[in-house]
Amino acid sequence: MDNRRAILFSAPSGSGKTTIIREILKRFDCFEFSISATSRQPRAGEADGVDYYFLSHDDFVRRVGRQEFLEWEEVYAGTCYGTLKSEIDRIWDNGHVIIFDVDVNGGMNIKKYFGDKALSLFVKPPSVEVLAARLRGRGTETEEAISKRLARSAAELGMSDRFDVTIINDDLARAVEQTEAVIKQYLAAPLD
Ligand code: ADP
Ligand code: 5GP
Repeated sequence: MDNRRAILFSAPSGSGKTTIIREILKRFDCFEFSISATSRQPRAGEADGVDYYFLSHDDFVRRVGRQEFLEWEEVYAGTCYGTLKSEIDRIWDNGHVIIFDVDVNGGMNIKKYFGDKALSLFVKPPSVEVLAARLRGRGTETEEAISKRLARSAAELGMSDRFDVTIINDDLARAVEQTEAVIKQYLAAPLD
């Protein structure tokens, strides 16, 4: 199999993509997670160079100027996230398939860039009410940050049809099984 491919996950924050990605990473040994850069503060338990490259806002902007990003977005007012070009080289040079966790705009940009070399997955919560409950239950954001995330979710949910596959994350085990199945099918198909 040609490993120079990517699987990308997009969804409104709180839909469960990080949870699904962790399960998928356990089930396949060909994948490596693309560590994004962000200007937000680390959450408890997050480590620099593992979950994200945590940068100051100024450093992030400097790297944008140096064209170090394949794509970047100010996902929430004042908070930027981006995919460093160096991550793609690093992971492909390791012989691994890239896993991206990016917002919906980033997902569409990456899919456009990679074309058939990427499978794009949209993770959908069963409802907006469940999404809100999951975000609050996660307990990692202030109520203000949760409101910013929920405010974006309606527009993001409206873009699910731009992705190759939608995974409804109601029952987690079922969502992971479905994700595993579509990934296997994608990886088994030869590239043109
Ligand atoms: P995202 O990465 O999309 O922001 P997370 O993976 O952090 O979302 O999930 C948000 C919260 O919802 C977490 O607390 C997680 O444990 C929980 N969660 C994820 N999937 C499910 C599910 N299918 N059922 C119940 N809770 C879930
Ligand atoms: P969080 O703060 O919850 O880790 O991430 C918030 C949002 O930013 C999520 O939708 C996540 O997918 C998105 N995100 C993380 N990294 C990137 C990236 O490199 N590019 C883009 N466009 N979005 C990202």
